[in-house]
Amino acid sequence: MPDFTPLLDVPAFPADGYASLADRLQRLLGTTHDVVFVQAEAILALEAAATSLARPGLIALNIVTSPYGGYFGHWLRLGGAKVHDVAAAGGQPITVAAVAQALAALPQVDLVAMVHAETSSGILNPLPEIAALARARGALLAVDAVASLGGHELDVDALGIDVCIGGPQKALGGPAGLSFAAISSRAWAAMAQAPDRGPSSLSLLELRRTWLAAGRGKPAGMPSALEFWALQAALDRIEAEGLPQTIARHARAAAATRAGLTALGVAPRVTDPGSASALATAAPVPAGIDAGALIAAADRLGVTLTPGFGEVRGRLVRLDHTGSRANFAPVLASVVGYGTALQQLGAAVDLGGAAAAVTDGYR
Ligand SMILES: *Cc1c(COP(=O)(O)O)cnc(C)c1O
Repeated sequence: MPDFTPLLDVPAFPADGYASLADRLQRLLGTTHDVVFVQAEAILALEAAATSLARPGLIALNIVTSPYGGYFGHWLRLGGAKVHDVAAAGGQPITVAAVAQALAALPQVDLVAMVHAETSSGILNPLPEIAALARARGALLAVDAVASLGGHELDVDALGIDVCIGGPQKALGGPAGLSFAAISSRAWAAMAQAPDRGPSSLSLLELRRTWLAAGRGKPAGMPSALEFWALQAALDRIEAEGLPQTIARHARAAAATRAGLTALGVAPRVTDPGSASALATAAPVPAGIDAGALIAAADRLGVTLTPGFGEVRGRLVRLDHTGSRANFAPVLASVVGYGTALQQLGAAVDLGGAAAAVTDGYR
């Protein structure tokens, strides 16, 4: 049994340390907007953002490319907003044309909401193009960047993102129990028009009152020191590596994974590499093979394949190359493990070719 004692009696995070964490997150996100901490997994920050923006009369275009987008629309509707969903075909990115068409059908639109990159299906949505469309309509733009921060270019201010939700637990390799939101002054103004829910864990305005306006010291309640220490360690590590290098490392892992799959003889699910997530690659579950059996066969080799999340479950498996997994050894093991599992289930694959292709990506 490992000795977990260092996890107990954790020293308090210094009261003057929170503001500096927020400043460092601002730089990582490329924003001068306010950054607030939500002391929970990023899913709660997303719910708080939707709940804080929602009001009767708000008209939203909600882009759905995974269950996360579906949840966001649900929370907006609970708050009385009129939500128009535009959904992509299962496991594929949304097209700019579909968003343009959906926007054209709306005489007025106050908010566009989207997920930037999806680890659940391995896709990347065309954020710069959608951001331009939202801006042209004068709509606020809310972006779930949990699975893109650290893996893709994300310049919040240059793109004109009004509400950007992030978490340290994906490409940054940090803790999952803490998340954050960057919020523009336009978005604060919109939230001020919505019913004030404070005090509530779902109220971002409450964080503005109790933390931003109170000098950005110790957040209200009893902040989890473990989570804040871990966020600080994750930021130390990312800054030491350099954000562009972190992004490049994920891009390289994605390219090597895709090359490995192609050499294996299977096509990655997302055909255009420019529309693929840098954090996870979706691989097909070939006809006649059961996704559960494939995952179990890989698991016996010590290789973790993750099922698709949501409607793509059973139709794809994910090769995860997020954080510390965006490196040669895990990428090679995933591709060869997936290939070996396929072979054991009767598929014809070129394991040697796949290993060579992954290796070529790291020369
Ligand atoms: C991982 C992820 C989240 C956060 O989900 P958690 O349950 O907090 O891990 C949100 N959005 C996207 C797109 C994600 O990939």
